[in-house]
Parts: sequence; structure tokens; C-alpha cells
Amino acid sequence: MFKALKEKLKNWFKKTEKEEIGKKSKHKVDKILIEPIDKIPEIELPPEKERIIEELAPESEHKQVREEKEGKKSIFTKVKERLTKTEINESHFDRLFSELEEILLENNVALNVVNSVKDKLKDKIIGKAVKNNKISEFLKERLKDVINEILVEPFDLLKRAKENKPYIILFFGINGSGKTTTIAKIAKLFLDHRLSVVLAASDTFRAASIEQLAQHAQSLGVTIIKHDYGADPAAVAYDAIKHAKSHNKAVVLIDTAGRMYTRENLMKEMKKIIRVTQPDLKLFVGESITGNDATEQARTFAETVGIDGLILTKADVDQKGGTALSVSYITKKPIFFLGQGQTYDDLKPFSKQDILKNLGLD
Ligand code: GDP
Repeated sequence: MFKALKEKLKNWFKKTEKEEIGKKSKHKVDKILIEPIDKIPEIELPPEKERIIEELAPESEHKQVREEKEGKKSIFTKVKERLTKTEINESHFDRLFSELEEILLENNVALNVVNSVKDKLKDKIIGKAVKNNKISEFLKERLKDVINEILVEPFDLLKRAKENKPYIILFFGINGSGKTTTIAKIAKLFLDHRLSVVLAASDTFRAASIEQLAQHAQSLGVTIIKHDYGADPAAVAYDAIKHAKSHNKAVVLIDTAGRMYTRENLMKEMKKIIRVTQPDLKLFVGESITGNDATEQARTFAETVGIDGLILTKADVDQKGGTALSVSYITKKPIFFLGQGQTYDDLKPFSKQDILKNLGLD
């Protein structure tokens, strides 16, 4: 994940170092060389000005010598300042950003998220005087700040589950996104941490979904509560919670339908399951590779039924990674895990630090 985006960002930083700043410095040198020295505006000396002047030309020296030295010092500082620092203005920023914009869009970052990144960066960059040889570093730091603001750090799920028995998690997501596989992976994670699990087969709509979940339950050695196809999904979930309570089980993982006759039907059903189960956590599962599709689905679920967090699957086959930024920005909720393959252990806890590192921004 993020391989393509990381590479592009790296090239972009390199480019800003070489081209933009080289041009700018040369232009500045030219300007300074053709401008008469007295046209160069006064710049402020640091507070210790008096002390510096005194060291260069003590009071006892002749006035003219003293003024010369003072003049030399200020012009030297002035020229040096102008040669070594660049104040990034709006047009410079726009030129720099147009390329970054393309990179982000190409890598699955949604347009409104790109625009927000632009506004945030602009605020942090325009008008700031930056040392010429540090511009690329400065841009990198500011982009890191912006991404840090967009991503949300998840809480410690295992700790939370240990504190609330039974801990009820409801999974949403459209068919094929990897929801059932992810539920099995999460079940394995809880089992590995000695938390017992009950699965609820509340997708009673899609053919084979119950058998698929039952297969995982058997492989993992956990209880599954299931009814027939067409049964009320909320009733299945209710029974699973009842079972967990009476058997002192730690966690209930509820699968839900990913498709129904209409989207309205699906959302109505999700709302009913939420009402009946009062889950501790509502997680949206989406495919990282689908980019804008996953972002739109996450937005729909977040706005219609409300979600507390996300899991992005198939991160192992996603070179771009922009979906993570988009869904975080749109939902303002944390990503808890990245699905990184088809086995039970292919589940990677999400952390902001890892993402920044993967983007080459650490
Ligand atoms: P559901 O319809 O949302 O329940 O999706 P499934 O759990 O049945 O998964 C659909 C397909 O995606 C299956 O072939 C899974 O093995 C595969 N899959 C799920 N998660 C991942 C993942 O993280 N990486 C990869 N490469 N494949 C995955």
C-alpha cells in the first residue's frame, strides 16, 4: 500500500528542491546584482544590534569608520538574507501544488479531500520565509502535518473489549468488500488475546453467506448463531448476544447484509439491527483498491446509520493508498485495521505513524 504515492511524493520533493528553488535563487541574485545597494530596503538587525556594532566599531572610533562598519554589516546581512531565504507566495504555491494535486488525484485521494489538503497547506506555507536549501524539507514537514490532521488514531480495541463484556461489534459493507473474511480475521485476533468470540450470521439475504461464515467459525473453533435465509437479521444478532451473555463470552461479531433489493431497504435493516443490538462499535469494511467507490460507500453508511470506525481490505493489492486519506477525511473516524491478504493473520493494526512512514513522511 502507498508504494506509488510514496514514490511520486519523493520525486515531487526532489523536484521542488532542484528546479523551483534553483530558479528562484538565480532570479534573486540577478535582482540584487542589478539593484543599487541603497535601493535594497533596510532589514532589521537582531536585538543585539547595538552589541554587534559596538564590537565592530567601539564608541571611541571615528564616527565615519563606525558608520561604514555599521553599513557594511547591514548590507551584508541584507544580501545574505535575500539569497538564502525564500518567502513562498501564492503563485509559487499554486505552481508547486498543481503537481501535488495531480499526484494525489492519481492515487485515489478524492477531489474534495485534495482541495482541503490544498487549503490547509496554503495556510501553513504562504508568507513563510524558508531557507532555500530547506524548502523541500519544509514542504515535507507541512504535508506531514496536514496528513496527521486528517488521519484519526484508533483506540486500543483489545483493551476496550476486555473492559466491556460482551463487546458487540457490528460490521457493515457491500458484498465482495471482504467483510466475512475480515470478521474471521478479527475473531482470530480476539482469540489470540484470549477473548472468546461468538459470530452472528445476520446476512440472511445473500446466498451462501451463512455457510461461508459457518466455515470460518468451524476453522476457528468458535460458536456461530444462525437462522435460515430470509430470517430477521436483528433477531439473529439478538440471539447471539443472548448466547454471549449466558455463556460469559467476551465478544460478539455481527455480519450483516451487503446488498438488498434497494439501498433504502439495506439502510432500514441496518438501523433496525443497531436499535436491537446497541453495538459498542459499528465498523465499515471497504476495499482500499476501489478508491472513490469505497469513499462514497463509507460516506453513505456514516451519514445514514453512523459508523465509529473503518477497516480497509485488500491493502496488499493497493499500490495507491489514497483511499485511507479520503475515508478518514470524509468520515472523521479512525481506521482500525488494514486487510493485507486472505489468511486469518493478514490483518494489520492501523497507525498514523506507519502511514506517514509508508508515505516517506516520517
Ligand atoms: P464479503 O462479500 O464482503 O463478505 O467478502 P468476502 O469476505 O467473501 O471476500 C471477498 C474476496 O476478497 C474473497 O476472495 C477474499 O478472500 C478476498 N479478500 C478479503 N480480504 C482480503 C484482503 O485483505 N486481501 C486480499 N488480497 N483479498 C481479500
